[in-house]
Amino acid sequence: MRKALILPTKYVQGEDELLNLGYFVSTFGQSALLIANPDDVNRVRPQLDATAKKFGIHFVEGGFNGEVTREETKRLQQVAAENHTDCIIGLGGGKAIDASKVVAEGEHLIIVPTIAATDAPTSHSAVLYHADGSFDDYAYFKQSPSVVMVDTKVVAAAPVRFLVAGMGDALSTYFEARATHNSYSRVNASLPMGSREGLTEPAIGTYAALALAELCWTNLKADGLQAKIACEANLVTEAFNKIIETNILLSGLGFESGGLAAAHAIHNGMTVLAGTHHYLHGEKVAFATIVQLVMEDAAKSELEAVMDFCASVGLPLTLADLGVTEISFEEALAVAKIACIPEESIHSMPFPISEEAVANALIVADRIGQDYKIRNGLA
Ligand SMILES: [Zn+2]
Repeated sequence: MRKALILPTKYVQGEDELLNLGYFVSTFGQSALLIANPDDVNRVRPQLDATAKKFGIHFVEGGFNGEVTREETKRLQQVAAENHTDCIIGLGGGKAIDASKVVAEGEHLIIVPTIAATDAPTSHSAVLYHADGSFDDYAYFKQSPSVVMVDTKVVAAAPVRFLVAGMGDALSTYFEARATHNSYSRVNASLPMGSREGLTEPAIGTYAALALAELCWTNLKADGLQAKIACEANLVTEAFNKIIETNILLSGLGFESGGLAAAHAIHNGMTVLAGTHHYLHGEKVAFATIVQLVMEDAAKSELEAVMDFCASVGLPLTLADLGVTEISFEEALAVAKIACIPEESIHSMPFPISEEAVANALIVADRIGQDYKIRNGLA
């Protein structure tokens, strides 16, 4: 049986960690192409100037137009070539980070997330879009980022909604990895660049990745609420540190090397529900996790624990919490149809999948969430 695990070369996290960015640039050379939204650069300008001076390096600001397209990443590659930069830095939220992965093509890459809203920073993959914002393709690179660096003070200063959404993304990690483990399905860590031709069977996950995924859920239950309160005060505490590591490192390794299953596929299907469009990835993934638990008839105590956690930090429990006040069976089936396309991770569940069963679970999960809210005086 083949198994695979993929990791960034180095992960560093701490207060004022950005002041060490110049050191990591200096391990590659003297200059770095900085891919970031100008607003995000301005938020950390003093730290960038200080670290550049301290370590004798310089940043070439490439800007970023906000969408990860083939044109924009090609433009940035040209800027890197013209300036002979020694490494690439992706700084900011999800899109700038993904763009930097495409530009770097798996080499000499430093990722600096300034929010903890998703678990994408550590992975060796990115999502490409067309200029109109529609999906283009998934891209996989030969290696994960060289360095993933998190300045906890910068993340604590960002809006708390991002941290909570990141907890929603991390919430799904254990349940999806557990399902993938039980079905012996392949994991993203086994996906090579380009064609899989010539390789033997796809690899399944390691026990290491499953353990990291389980630690996500343990940490969220223990410290999710305390971390949220710290972020509301824009202050770093040890609970906050633990949740930053959970959202970015543990969930990142857990999803990529432990596997995705129903929750992320249902999230993708929910894009057909117009009401959800203003909600963040992790907010939708949290509710989709409840749907997955209904599909697999998880123990009542586990379902209650997940709902208790969501209620405590303010993650969605119902479709109405995601802007969908009513859902017909036909609409639920439309969600299920997309969730169940052959390439989707939902087929990593350890039992056969039908569109009807997914639609039913979506509607029933919504009712269970409504019931929970009434029982707990939240409705
Ligand atoms: Zn996710």
